[in-house]
Amino acid sequence: MIVMKFGGSSVGNAERIRRAAQIVKSHSGDKPVVVVSGIGGVTDKLIEAASSAAKGGSRQKLSAIIAWHNDIVKQLGLDAGIIGNELTELAAFGEEIEQSKALPHATLDKAMSFGERLSARIFAAYLNSTGAEAKAYDAYDLGMLTDSNFGNADILPVAFSKLRTAFRQISCIPVVTGFIGKDKEGNITTVGRGGSDYTACILGAALRADEIQIWTNVNGIMTADPKVIDDARNIESISYEEEAELEFLGSKTLHPKGIRPAMENSIPVRILNTMQPEQEGTLICRDIKEDRRIASITSKEEIEVICVKNQRKLLENGMLLKIIRVLERKGIWIDLILTSKSGVTMTLNQSNGADISAVAKELEQLGDVTVKTNMAKISLVGKSITSIEGISGRILSAVGSIPIEAISVGGSETSESFIVRQEDAARAIRLLHTEFF
Ligand code: ASP
Ligand code: MG
Repeated sequence: MIVMKFGGSSVGNAERIRRAAQIVKSHSGDKPVVVVSGIGGVTDKLIEAASSAAKGGSRQKLSAIIAWHNDIVKQLGLDAGIIGNELTELAAFGEEIEQSKALPHATLDKAMSFGERLSARIFAAYLNSTGAEAKAYDAYDLGMLTDSNFGNADILPVAFSKLRTAFRQISCIPVVTGFIGKDKEGNITTVGRGGSDYTACILGAALRADEIQIWTNVNGIMTADPKVIDDARNIESISYEEEAELEFLGSKTLHPKGIRPAMENSIPVRILNTMQPEQEGTLICRDIKEDRRIASITSKEEIEVICVKNQRKLLENGMLLKIIRVLERKGIWIDLILTSKSGVTMTLNQSNGADISAVAKELEQLGDVTVKTNMAKISLVGKSITSIEGISGRILSAVGSIPIEAISVGGSETSESFIVRQEDAARAIRLLHTEFF
């Protein structure tokens, strides 16, 4: 069997849903299990509506969401009743939030869950209307049990066997909600924004799928961002480690949690384009097919580089630990770091939007601080890249006269990264692409 996950843009409107359903039907011989995201953009709208409700007025926003879904149902020629229960529940839930005047994480997760619950019902009903036998399922009714970390929940190990047992009873094409689960107390949870990939990989691992297909709006993973490199090529296959490294370094093809369950169970994952289903896409697997060392170039834009300098034997005084403590308090961790006798240069990983100038102020107690803004980190990713002879030299000579702020070699076996000014980033990527691809 295979798992076929369709992201928000792949089910973005009636036309896209027709396409996606056609793709599912063309795979009916592979026993597909379908996983869907909410209709593209709906999660953001649900968050907005829930926030407005907590402040006392959400009617308009909720009505727009309801009308939007009803409209798609109508365009697909389906009976409005198929999502009637969910829409009634959504309206009532909006009122409940209005009365409580609060939006705790658990409430927000429940509000977000309507996106996937609605799209799964619409998708299954449409498949049925075209003669395929399908049924919508909320993942938690099939055993998708998570911890109670609302907004970023993780699957509980017992879920795998629960899911296996539940799916054994299903003979039609199941259309399962991505993104959501329930904790042991029965509260709805979500696994993190963009998390339907994670749901798909969990199901693929639990059901020992032959392949997990991630249907999206690109042809697969590319040698570089096609917005920067005109002749960026599609990668035929990439290893789990390379893919995980790419996600860590800034690429956004798959949810970072997604690949783990597939990797642990050696289930191949294929990235495919809903708009061009005839393309091969990119296969993420244990052993790559082609003979190549470097997979892709990726970058993180508009980052800050912080230098802390202290002439008095910085590292010997436990300075590094003190710096880390400051960052930890702000919920920031170090991304790339270079140390010397008198100073530390680092880039920071701030997913929580922490205020860098406040951090710099605190660090000033430890030494002279400079913050360089508008920088970019460029990374080359490839299996055992660091063992390629002369790799750093080739990188440096490829980028030629572009000033490099910092270069990190050997921190990971799978990547080499360096920092340039943002204004030089596109040119540096182009030069590297010409050198290595
Ligand atoms: N609908 C959710 C989101 O927008 C999950 C997903 O699309 O994967 O984050
Ligand atoms: Mg996504």
